[in-house]
Amino acid sequence: MTLSSKTLSSKLSDPRLFRQYAYVDGKWTHGEGGREEAVFDPATGEALGHIPWLEAHQITAAVDAAEAAFVHWRALRADERCERLLAWYDLLQAHREDLATLMTLEQGKPLPDARGEVEYGASFVRWFAEEGKRTFGETIPSHIPNAALGTIKEPVGIAALITPWNFPLAMITRKAAAAMAAGCTVIVKPAGETPFSALALAELAERAGIPAGVFNVVLGEPAEVSKILCAEDRVKALSFTGSTRVGRLLLEQCANTVKRVSLELGGNAPFIVGPDMDPKEAAFAAVAAKFQTAGQDCLAADRILVHESIHDAFVEHFAERMAALTVGNGLESEVDLGPLIHRQAVEKAAAIVDDAISKGATLVAGDQSQAPGENFFMPVLLTGVTHDMKIWHEESFAPVAGITAYADDDQVIEMANDTEYGLAAYLYTHDIRRIWKVLRALEFGMVSVNSVKMTGPPVPFGGVKHSGLGREGGVTGIDEYLETKYYCLGALGSVSGS
Ligand code: NAD
Repeated sequence: MTLSSKTLSSKLSDPRLFRQYAYVDGKWTHGEGGREEAVFDPATGEALGHIPWLEAHQITAAVDAAEAAFVHWRALRADERCERLLAWYDLLQAHREDLATLMTLEQGKPLPDARGEVEYGASFVRWFAEEGKRTFGETIPSHIPNAALGTIKEPVGIAALITPWNFPLAMITRKAAAAMAAGCTVIVKPAGETPFSALALAELAERAGIPAGVFNVVLGEPAEVSKILCAEDRVKALSFTGSTRVGRLLLEQCANTVKRVSLELGGNAPFIVGPDMDPKEAAFAAVAAKFQTAGQDCLAADRILVHESIHDAFVEHFAERMAALTVGNGLESEVDLGPLIHRQAVEKAAAIVDDAISKGATLVAGDQSQAPGENFFMPVLLTGVTHDMKIWHEESFAPVAGITAYADDDQVIEMANDTEYGLAAYLYTHDIRRIWKVLRALEFGMVSVNSVKMTGPPVPFGGVKHSGLGREGGVTGIDEYLETKYYCLGALGSVSGS
């Protein structure tokens, strides 16, 4: 089935936000080899439109454009770059509704969640617009006679940004705004499933007066495009958000050109509930932490670890809350969970559930015959989840919740850390000694205590172990795009009075 491009445009108050071209050097670009890919609405299976796949020389042309633009962009004063980024921020806000509609159509998440992502994504643009004015160097007390020592911060150069489909807008702005505020130019390679949010960002960047070549969006066969960007010596930084599998591949591919590499990879978050917790309060929080974006979230509560003394009550409240979740097309009102991104994701979720049941887990709820379409997966609750099951080790990236009972703090710490991932962990308890002990022992880049919400522009987002390298957001997020230049000004003579 095909939803004509006209139909999609008619859903937007500003149809020019829907673009079916790449964006290179300030120009809307078609693929010279004639290759193109359809983009589907995961809720209906309808084709929303098509994107071109660029040829290798067109990716190189994007690097040429970013290289030429870098000369002028880096030479602007920080407050001049700030003004342009703030203009971009204002446009993102002004077009929030259209951006959210585009996102729901290509990604599937419910419209209120999509609005929230636009807000969240835009907030990074505002944060880094300001942060670019504070990339201070240092003055170093000299150990060399008659010398002045210090550091200045300089933009690394061209940054390649490769992003996933689950947060099609915010994963771009979190990188691009930091890089551009630092004075870098960027080449974005969005996920093929969700290119239209990236292209709408490009349209708005152009309207905001971001010069040609500063923000480019390339499209194409993922492995081909990434190989070119990683091998390009002129690309000085690679920032990737996506799976650990692809992250490892890109890290290897960047070795020859010794690039700056930042990786935001998979997660397998434990959600720990202490014995002192009200089981209802904790269960409701766990439902919120598990089912956001239909479970397709690197922060999703993948392993819910509940103290044995409140386990049964917790399961009851969790099941009750889960039963109230509605599943459907994200454009409809009152929908909590949209579709999964494609059919393979549904098949993977089903396999993970089957594997757990075959190894002894109990299926408390989750009837797939109720699914409203082929890409939908009804929320599932499993209890008795153990270490030998796939759901323990793999990101399900689906609305599948697994609960395990534990006996004491030492055991739950061991269970929580029993994963190659180390992105985020949740801890629910009001016992301050337990909080401190568990918080310190958890091998994760982020620990959220008694709060589902943990992210935002002022905080350093990122993981340890196989969840990645580097941090995004916060006062250090911009450092990923800056070099430190040390200077020594010698033979200055002595300064009288000093
Ligand atoms: P993915 O790794 O399949 O794809 C991410 C990007 O890499 C896409 O642009 C894709 O086109 C590209 N890509 C895919 N295969 C490639 C290849 N062989 N060579 C080069 N590039 C390739 O990930 P996904 O399925 O789009 O996203 C889900 C993953 O992202 C999950 O693992 C999730 O945890 C992770 N994620 C992490 C964060 C974080 O901040 N840590 C945030 C969101 C998502």
